[in-house]
Amino acid sequence: MLPDYRVRQRDYLLEISRALTEELDLDVLLLRILRITIEMLTGHAGFIALKDEKRGWHIAVHEGIAEALLNYLKRWLEAQPADSTEDDEVHVPEINRMLSDISMGMLTGVGINMIFQKQVIGQIYVFRNYRGLFSANDRMLLTSFANQAAIAVRNARLYNETREQSLRLEALLDSAADGILILTPDLRVERANKALQRLLNTTEEQCVGKHFSEVIRWAKPPQGVTLEEAVANNWSQSVQNLFYLEGDMLREGLREPLPVGISYGPLFSAENKLINVIASVRDITRFRTAEEMKTSFISVVSHELKTPIALIKGYVSTLRRDDVEWDREIVSESLAVIEEEADHLTEMVEDLLDATRLQAGGLTLKKVELEIPRLARFLADRYTSQTEKHSFEVDFPADFPAVPADEERIRQVLTNLLNNAIKYSPTGEIRISGKARQKDVVVCVSDHGPGIDPRDQPFVFDRFYRSDEVAKTTKGTGLGLYLCREIIRAHEGKIWVDETYKEGSRICFSLPRE
Ligand code: ADP
Repeated sequence: MLPDYRVRQRDYLLEISRALTEELDLDVLLLRILRITIEMLTGHAGFIALKDEKRGWHIAVHEGIAEALLNYLKRWLEAQPADSTEDDEVHVPEINRMLSDISMGMLTGVGINMIFQKQVIGQIYVFRNYRGLFSANDRMLLTSFANQAAIAVRNARLYNETREQSLRLEALLDSAADGILILTPDLRVERANKALQRLLNTTEEQCVGKHFSEVIRWAKPPQGVTLEEAVANNWSQSVQNLFYLEGDMLREGLREPLPVGISYGPLFSAENKLINVIASVRDITRFRTAEEMKTSFISVVSHELKTPIALIKGYVSTLRRDDVEWDREIVSESLAVIEEEADHLTEMVEDLLDATRLQAGGLTLKKVELEIPRLARFLADRYTSQTEKHSFEVDFPADFPAVPADEERIRQVLTNLLNNAIKYSPTGEIRISGKARQKDVVVCVSDHGPGIDPRDQPFVFDRFYRSDEVAKTTKGTGLGLYLCREIIRAHEGKIWVDETYKEGSRICFSLPRE
């Protein structure tokens, strides 16, 4: 039979071990350890102090000690010489001196170092209000409690660190601009961050547990190594640790696939076992658009600039022939073509320069009180002399107000709209009309041509956009309406295709009156 106090001792130790596994809140746990220790040693007060690199000493929990004394105790702890780790026990005479100094009613005390991996991480103290030495058994008991407390501190610190890490990871995942999928080794979705849910038009619940191929669905499977192959080969021969695929991804409930770039990366355990695969998904629409722009730019520039140059060159070589004598009329007609094509070239180069300037944000406006009806009449007169197939109408109310606008730029807008009307409508009336509204004025240019197909309407103001039909039969860069839109936007106005007009096309823009 164990003596009574031994039984109690064993029970207390068991209770502490149980508490250790159940309780992760460090302060609650330490207080439990402290109370049991005080009770076991028939003490009346005590505290557990912890030491860490950042804060130094601090009193984690205390029992039977007035709050007012805590600061004093902290300073006292700091003033103690650093204890060697072999010597678990804190020197009793110093403790007793301290107790008599602060006269808190305690007469003797004992303190033991809490040691983890040969480092003092804290101390545990018990005080009695009567004289009497702490026995060897008391000290032994205190040592085993101190060891338990050291384990508790380590566990709780580990737990907090892990929790912080996982919170950090969550925050990182959810704030990432790229879509991120965390996959299990058998390629099922474990987590899908917010950006990915947005990209795929789905929710995390809909993705989790599914095989990744049900979530990442391609309109057309991209070339190269597949994720399954990479995993089957343990990421070794076929791919580098990271590999990248590009393609068009299908999305839940949306018709248009999304161009994306996905990079896959493995996460291995220390034993080199695959734990997760991380897929990071990036929307590359803008990149693709920029690429397409570049391609259209090159093709437009090379095609559109080449045509007039070829014409000019052709006429010049013909005129220069020594073996033929050209009559004045032919020479004059040829020179007229050369002049026209040179003008055309200049216009195109200017449009291209304008477009580049606009992209760089360099459009500055010189605003004046602009009388648009006057400008419209001037342009109509000029165009009348240039075409016989069209007639021009200018239709503005008498009280149409002057508006603050850049004359040169608005002339450019009207010129582009009139050029298009002439170019795309074979004959008929071209009308420039205007009306004043309370806050703005609206100016429209209409023709009696084929009109703009409703399918093209959303895009005609985009850079380099030309409808397929039109591109086959007419010349152009697809920059005219883009420049118009940018100029009108710079004036804080709007430009649009009037869908209600059915006799041809009508493009209108508004300009604020103030
Ligand atoms: P471009 O005339 O050089 O093609 P724009 O930007 O001026 O470039 O016009 C873009 C497209 O809008 C044209 O290619 C054409 O398809 C369409 N469009 C513009 N104006 C008209 C119009 N008056 N009638 C019919 N289609 C038009």
